[in-house]
Amino acid sequence: MKADHQQTIQDQIAVTEIPAPPFKENERAQYYKGRLEALGLEGVQQDEEGNVYGMLKGSGNGPTLFVSAHLDTVFPEGTDTTVRERDGKLCAPGIGDDGRGLASVLSIVRAFKESGVRPEGDIIFGGTVGEEGLGDLRGVKHFFAEHAEVDGFISIESGSPAGITYKATGSHRYVITYKGPGGHSFGAFGTPNAIHAMGRAIAGIADVKVPAEPKTTFNVGVVEGGTSINSIPADAKMQLDMRSNDEEELLKLEQKVMKIVDQASEDENKRWRSDQMTVQKELVGDRPAATQPDDALIVQTGWAGAQSAGLNPSLGEPSSTDSNYPMSLGIPSLTLRGGGVSTGTHSPEECFDPTDAYLGPQRSYMTILGLVGVRDVSQPLLPQRN
Ligand SMILES: [Zn+2]
Repeated sequence: MKADHQQTIQDQIAVTEIPAPPFKENERAQYYKGRLEALGLEGVQQDEEGNVYGMLKGSGNGPTLFVSAHLDTVFPEGTDTTVRERDGKLCAPGIGDDGRGLASVLSIVRAFKESGVRPEGDIIFGGTVGEEGLGDLRGVKHFFAEHAEVDGFISIESGSPAGITYKATGSHRYVITYKGPGGHSFGAFGTPNAIHAMGRAIAGIADVKVPAEPKTTFNVGVVEGGTSINSIPADAKMQLDMRSNDEEELLKLEQKVMKIVDQASEDENKRWRSDQMTVQKELVGDRPAATQPDDALIVQTGWAGAQSAGLNPSLGEPSSTDSNYPMSLGIPSLTLRGGGVSTGTHSPEECFDPTDAYLGPQRSYMTILGLVGVRDVSQPLLPQRN
């Protein structure tokens, strides 16, 4: 895999230069599918949601593991994704997140093909759509709805190769819209005001108390609405993000906030003895929180995988990745990191330092071998669910 380093970097550049905006990953998906086919995986396909994947067959007696990176980026259509070299670093939006993960998956498949190491379990390798933002994990949700036979999951993201992400931060996101009759600011004074109603809600939300542990947060990130300075606004809209490392705390927070949102509409009506103010709550993001014990078998396997690649493993903070979904289903899941050093993630100034980056795929490869087992060498550590 060390000898494959240059090839992996070339792949990383090639995949990054094909733009993959949210909900528009298809061009990159088609390219990636071609690469998986060329590596000789079986049954390479694109599913209805847009994910691409193919299988490396094992002996038929082991578990099935899904190993993937995400195809989408956070960058809108029209973003220049040409990779430029700066002081030995590679710079382009998405070069690390998740160009590095996608390239790592290809390197891992090549390692299987060229080493002749034969896994006991089946491994499905691929790229998922919709990991970022409002994509809401639609790729991985669809995949697991169709693949009940899969026993474990590894997602590869950008970052230091020694870390193990095994806890998932959940999030619920809403677009909340207040609607009233509107009218002239002077002539129709006394009519409920959509922005005033939303202001009441925001003031209430701002005062909500959340635990520091498990970390639980809220944010009104975008507000919009109104017509002009001298019109009573007929609508006001806000985007609201709530997160927690604990599913129960997330639901508790959501309940509190939704009560405030409804109360604000009622209070605005009461203020003007009206019933014309209404509020709509649209759930636009639902990522479950989930956790696995520190000594879960898959965590220990990730730990041993890092050690066997000569790294000093560490247990990472909870994070929001493709692993959230299978983890919430009770399927052993890890998010591992592709190696190298990524900076400026989710910004147009994203850069990647490729020094010793091969340690990422090496470490993931060793973890995979532990989970699926090696024919005539070791039994799979990952249990079969069915
Ligand atoms: Zn990512």
